[in-house]
Amino acid sequence: MTLTLDLTARRVEHARMFVDGGWADAASGGSFPTVDPSTGETIAQVPRADATDVDRAVAAARRVSVEWQFTDAVARAGLLRALAGLVAENADELARLEALDSGHYLAKAQELVAAIPLWLEYWAGLADKVGGRTIDVPGNKLSFTLREPLGVTAHIVPWNYPLLILVRSCAPALALGNTCVVKPAEDTSLSALKFAELVEQAGFPAGVFNVVTGFGAEAGAALAAHPDVAGITFTGSTETGKTVAKLAADHVAQVNLELGGKSPTIVFPDADLDDAVEAAVQGFCSHAGQVCVAGTRLFVHADVREAFLAKLVDRLRAAKIGDIFDGATQMGPLINEKQYRRVREYIEIGKSEGTLHYGGGRPAGTADGGYYVEPTVFTDVTNDARIAREEIFGPVAAVITWTDEDELIRACNDSPYGLFAVVFTKDITRALSTTRRLQVGGVMINDWFGELPMTPHGGHKQSGTGREEGLEAVHGYTQIKHVTVNLDDSLRAGTDWAGAPL
Ligand code: NAD
Repeated sequence: MTLTLDLTARRVEHARMFVDGGWADAASGGSFPTVDPSTGETIAQVPRADATDVDRAVAAARRVSVEWQFTDAVARAGLLRALAGLVAENADELARLEALDSGHYLAKAQELVAAIPLWLEYWAGLADKVGGRTIDVPGNKLSFTLREPLGVTAHIVPWNYPLLILVRSCAPALALGNTCVVKPAEDTSLSALKFAELVEQAGFPAGVFNVVTGFGAEAGAALAAHPDVAGITFTGSTETGKTVAKLAADHVAQVNLELGGKSPTIVFPDADLDDAVEAAVQGFCSHAGQVCVAGTRLFVHADVREAFLAKLVDRLRAAKIGDIFDGATQMGPLINEKQYRRVREYIEIGKSEGTLHYGGGRPAGTADGGYYVEPTVFTDVTNDARIAREEIFGPVAAVITWTDEDELIRACNDSPYGLFAVVFTKDITRALSTTRRLQVGGVMINDWFGELPMTPHGGHKQSGTGREEGLEAVHGYTQIKHVTVNLDDSLRAGTDWAGAPL
């Protein structure tokens, strides 16, 4: 029985896990509700996996791991291309499911789902092009490396971009010969389950791709701690990332951590202010601020502060917030009640740390049970304020005025995070020298963040380790085997244990 979406009733039925090529409830029979962030109402019951279910999924992935590793790369790529085609064919349903479950407004969810085949195609293209290298060693020998998959990889996914984040790590893992076990976030399991149906239809062998649904501390922790998991890609909060890294350390699994951020948007006095305002609004209002790269620290030069703020307020007043299925909507709700309370708390903290310049309340006309918050801007904030240091994960920006460039850079870098930054200036020398000095994993100059399969994404400092996307992601899903071949007829006398000529 396949997962069914009834948009009129806002209900999803038959949400079951995908394990070893089949559909399963939790072994315990347990389930939990997933909630529509626009209304606070339950939309589905989802199986609540525990260590038993995780063990079954990992065993299945392990069983087929060698067969999948030695499946021709061209054949693995073919399956990924078939999957890309199925995602495109089912894009509308996937987008509606994602919107309902995660609170993305429909047009954004459609844009996100429409992009997913790009990731699958990118990694399908690379499947047969990633290899080792030859090494010039002394003596009559041939030395080279093989680049091999890790084995079973675990993919622990957050709720903000559920399907995109799943695909951006599973596509390289599968292309490069790993078998996968995915644990979606408890708030947003549905698109992963629909995607698993497409994996099945595409014809991937049973066990190569598995999805277990459940809570982080239960299913997530069991997956991270599983001794047969060789690699873990965790995307989520820095705090949970540290827990996952500790669990992984116990069995020495390779870990990619894509964690939180508190990104600066820097506005120089010569910036195109309309563009800078647009990037700032995208930066802290995209998906109601629930974005790892969210530009929530707005460093605006004193000379353009007033003009920038005036344009910012005009732009925010024009933004339509509310019903995710209304074609005019530009911002939906926060994911759940916990996040709603957290953001509201930070807004109260902000009132004592700065001046509330815009927003702070509930957007007019939004549904009562939904988790909506107005875009909120605080001015007169210093970089040591909590609202400037802590990841709020809501549409809340702190405007910090600056005049001295060295102090600006010091303040930007004075953060435990180092994920991303945006720089607005027409002076390319200034833009590039600023870029070199910023301690972050990515910089956009005169532009807002756009996620692409070919550009590496990841953090410095407590924003993470390893890279997703781009050629750099190959390192996160492969390991090296070194091989040396003796080309002489026999081993020469006098060769030491290391094989080096004496
Ligand atoms: P989270 O850390 O609460 O949860 C992420 C995932 O980890 C979920 O699947 C959850 O069930 C699981 N989890 C929770 N506790 C666990 C445990 N003890 N062991 C194993 N797994 C566990 O994060 P979230 O609230 O879902 O997502 C928001 C966070 O994700 C933000 O901090 C955001 O910046 C970050 N994020 C980072 C990136 C990036 O690419 N750097 C992308 C998106 C989101």
